[in-house]
Amino acid sequence: MTSIYLTKEIKELIDNGAIFYVSHSGGKDSQAMYALVKEIVPTKQIVVVHADLGEVEWEGVQDHIKQYTNHPINVVKAKKTLLEMVEKRGMWPSAKHRQCTSDLKRGPIFKFIRNDLKARNATVAINCMGLRAQESSARAKKKPFSYNNMQSCNNRVVRHVYDWLPIFHFKTDEVFRTISDVGQKPFWAYEKNERLSCVFCIMGCVGDLRHGAEQRPNLYKEYVELEKKIGHTMFMKGKEPISLEEYVGIKVSNL
Ligand code: SF4
Repeated sequence: MTSIYLTKEIKELIDNGAIFYVSHSGGKDSQAMYALVKEIVPTKQIVVVHADLGEVEWEGVQDHIKQYTNHPINVVKAKKTLLEMVEKRGMWPSAKHRQCTSDLKRGPIFKFIRNDLKARNATVAINCMGLRAQESSARAKKKPFSYNNMQSCNNRVVRHVYDWLPIFHFKTDEVFRTISDVGQKPFWAYEKNERLSCVFCIMGCVGDLRHGAEQRPNLYKEYVELEKKIGHTMFMKGKEPISLEEYVGIKVSNL
């Protein structure tokens, strides 16, 4: 069984009272990460943050996080919604240019970290994320622990921020096993889904998207209509754009 990624440097940061901000999406990776992090980091040094994506998320995600978390959930939200962002830009994000993640998740989470750190009069933050190497070749190139130069500063304000991927080397089955080993269950949508977070993710597989269309037909309709309105599709088939309805294989009129 793979163990949590832990180095001497991370242990020293724990011992020196750094604050560990656990980004929790409600997905299996966040759930397993939180369960493991709280075994080695003192409770008072853990802060749980959830970036709320509003209507485009699976319903009940925040209740699921609360059910399996001993810490209060700090919910952060961007000023714009995902669909507003897409409409304004006239295009969908892509796996390569994920403005959805940077603007709607990372941005609000880092803003929270900066403010929370200041309120605590603390200077060292560890941004914990449940990313795994197995998820994609781009993710596999990431470092499981690194100093975040962009978020750190050392002048008028002193702030040191590190990015930590505690379950970076975990395989999918190890993630699910970690969850069951601590007596928990993953979010219900995993009965059919591979990934969670947005019901219709730009990186979602057809199976997940179909499940989303069945569970959230009205939201599916909104995505289909937005594609038509902006003249840009979420997906490509080879080099050609393909409409969501064709990609998923479900016509809105049949739902
Ligand atoms: S789940 Fe997918 S669509 Fe939603 S923010 Fe993340 S990458 Fe973007």
